[in-house]
Amino acid sequence: MDKQLNYAPCGFLSISHEGIITEVNQTFLKWMGYEQADVLNKHIEFLMSIPNKLIFHSYFYPTINIQRCVEELFISFKHQDGISNPYLLNARMYTEDEMERIDCILVKMKKRIDYELELRSAKKQVEAAYIDKERALAKLEQIHLEIEQKQAELLEMNATLIELSVTDKLTGLKNRRYFQEKLEEQFSVFDKTAKSFSLFILDIDHFKKVNDTFGHQVGDEVLAQLAQILKTKARSEDTVARYGGEEFVVILPETNEDEAKDIAEYLRRAVEYAKWQTGKITVSIGIATATLKDSEATILKRADEALYVSKENGRNRVTHCRDLSKQKDDN
Ligand code: GH3
Ligand code: MG
Ligand code: MG
Repeated sequence: MDKQLNYAPCGFLSISHEGIITEVNQTFLKWMGYEQADVLNKHIEFLMSIPNKLIFHSYFYPTINIQRCVEELFISFKHQDGISNPYLLNARMYTEDEMERIDCILVKMKKRIDYELELRSAKKQVEAAYIDKERALAKLEQIHLEIEQKQAELLEMNATLIELSVTDKLTGLKNRRYFQEKLEEQFSVFDKTAKSFSLFILDIDHFKKVNDTFGHQVGDEVLAQLAQILKTKARSEDTVARYGGEEFVVILPETNEDEAKDIAEYLRRAVEYAKWQTGKITVSIGIATATLKDSEATILKRADEALYVSKENGRNRVTHCRDLSKQKDDN
């Protein structure tokens, strides 16, 4: 065997038609861990495990005999240490000195198989990572939805809290805080539009007597019923609020003195002629209409003064503060 073939970067074996090894190169011997004497004149099958022998019988021999060549046969050979390693085998049969000979070229496959296994495992890892990513994304989307839902709940809760903070518990009307805000708002509208507004304070007459006669519980029911009457009879643009105790306030946007008096009178009558469990309930009302000189404190003070006059004059009546100065002038 020439030197080039002996040390070529592939294994070389020559076998007889019966499979006896007649030549082997150094490269193959080095790979296998054998000396030449261990291999020469042995049957090639001594290098094979039983399954590989079967492949050899069922594929190699029939193919080489028919086609006189075998290409890319994948087969394992047992090394000297007993471990099988995979090879790719190409073989050619030819006749020399009237003898059939078969030359085999062997290329190591271990690295390539390891590489393929690595590739396969990397591919599996990528697939697993992809599935993990998809799951994480789905989870993230679910968390987003939950956050949105929670935010909507929070907004709703906030709205409820705001509503509660401006609502009077007993009557369900707006409370004094809301009234103060609305009054401020009315003054800024008045500043911009020069359209005046009115407000009135309404106080139940002899309410103490109601409590004393029928009890505090009934007193509460009267307050709630009165609130209902004011709420339903007032115009939708008016703000009705409980000012405190048995006093109520109503803000009447864009309403002049006469209109305010008419509305107050209408409400006073509605109360007087309502059906009460206690017998007749009446209210006294004091009205003020905003002027450019007014502040929140002064308009309330003037309405309160008018209320005081309604009480003084016998209760169950409406007084506009405008009429106070007249009364003073008259005196
Ligand atoms: P006037 O005609 O002068 O207004 O007489 P009044 O008895 O209505 O006036 P006064 O201010 O002396 O009494 C108001 C009463 O209202 C006293 C208080 O016990 C009662 N009151 C205040 N808040 C409530 C409440 O929430 N529930 C009940 N039941 N009574 C209340
Ligand atoms: Mg009072
Ligand atoms: Mg009263």
